[in-house]
Amino acid sequence: MTPGETAIARCDLFRHPPYSEEASALTRRFLTSAHKAALETLAGWMQAANMAVRLDAAGTLIGRYEGTGPRTLLIGSHIDSVRDAGAYDGALGVMLGLGVVEELARQGKRLPFAIEILAFGDEEGSRFHASMTGSRFISGTLKDDPTSLTDEDGVTMEEALRGFGLHPTGLRTAPHREDVFLYLEPHIEQGPVLEAENLPVGIVTGIAAQTRLAVTLSGMANHAGTTPMHLRKDALAAAAEAVLLLERIAAQAGIVGTVGAISARPGMGNVIPGECVFAVDLRAPSAEARDAAERAFRTGLAEICARRGIGQETTTVQQLAPCLCDGAAQTLLAEAIAAQGQRSFRLASGAGHDAMSMAALCPVAMLFIRCRAGISHNPAEHVEAADVDVAARVMLAFVEKLAGTAEL
Ligand SMILES: [Zn+2]
Repeated sequence: MTPGETAIARCDLFRHPPYSEEASALTRRFLTSAHKAALETLAGWMQAANMAVRLDAAGTLIGRYEGTGPRTLLIGSHIDSVRDAGAYDGALGVMLGLGVVEELARQGKRLPFAIEILAFGDEEGSRFHASMTGSRFISGTLKDDPTSLTDEDGVTMEEALRGFGLHPTGLRTAPHREDVFLYLEPHIEQGPVLEAENLPVGIVTGIAAQTRLAVTLSGMANHAGTTPMHLRKDALAAAAEAVLLLERIAAQAGIVGTVGAISARPGMGNVIPGECVFAVDLRAPSAEARDAAERAFRTGLAEICARRGIGQETTTVQQLAPCLCDGAAQTLLAEAIAAQGQRSFRLASGAGHDAMSMAALCPVAMLFIRCRAGISHNPAEHVEAADVDVAARVMLAFVEKLAGTAEL
């Protein structure tokens, strides 16, 4: 089998029990028996490739392949999934990292730095509604103690950690990692850009800055038959204008803006909506572009509401800084891609990844792999073995180029 076929076969093996909580779908949530089974099998593969394996306090499996010098390159992604997931989101990055070390071990080759392969257990946040627990722990950015969070069955993270053989107090002390010089995350693109460009892989320039807003519009509920149009205060009609305003602002700025959830009250066919609540998601490569769009939206929304006699309250639910990928690593990735006879292409990531939190620890780099129709978080998620082969060769070339750079 080629390296790409091996990585895909491993992801496909992990589709089913005991690596999935469900027989008919792939669901592998943090600290479940499916997560444990996946780590046991991964640990076996890591050991077979001459790696020393350990589990950290946040349930991240770490396989270490020693080098000849003191510094460490991290390669990783997440091994947990959403419910009814695809097989490659997260897992493929772990398998590709493992494949790089397997090839080095097969050649009996040691580099001037150690390589650690990380399999994060909680990127998706599909069990406890706290995401990126593993990468936030390693990078020292796990600010609030998550151990009292409960899953839908009332099990606390503390109980789940204990069931995994971990001690919850371990999460209080972040590891000191001064040896780490770079984190590389290979990941499926989860978007349609590489497919449109007809390219197997792409270099990620950064992860988008994101703002989420909650908007509540207050009008007046009234009889749909007796209230003339000019005497209405229709909160949903105002929201409709606001949705189109956001779409226009984002398109003009070349960024993305979405209203993905909206509800109207009282929600009856013969009553004018008196209240409307909707969620705004704005993402842009830079905080400046995102903030300018947010300002334009807030100004336009105020104008819509004033004109319609509607009250409004807009609150910021979440604001994430953009994460920029390391420039030197992008250049090395471009060389590694060109060496495989491929066109090097750069793109921004609209989705969040562990690399965002790892950026607090060290420079980060990401390599995207084309996925069919850009579909992810869906059993239909698909990657081509030929594309994964390119990614595997690029990663190996990248690691060897890193070994040849003077700074190390
Ligand atoms: Zn992912």
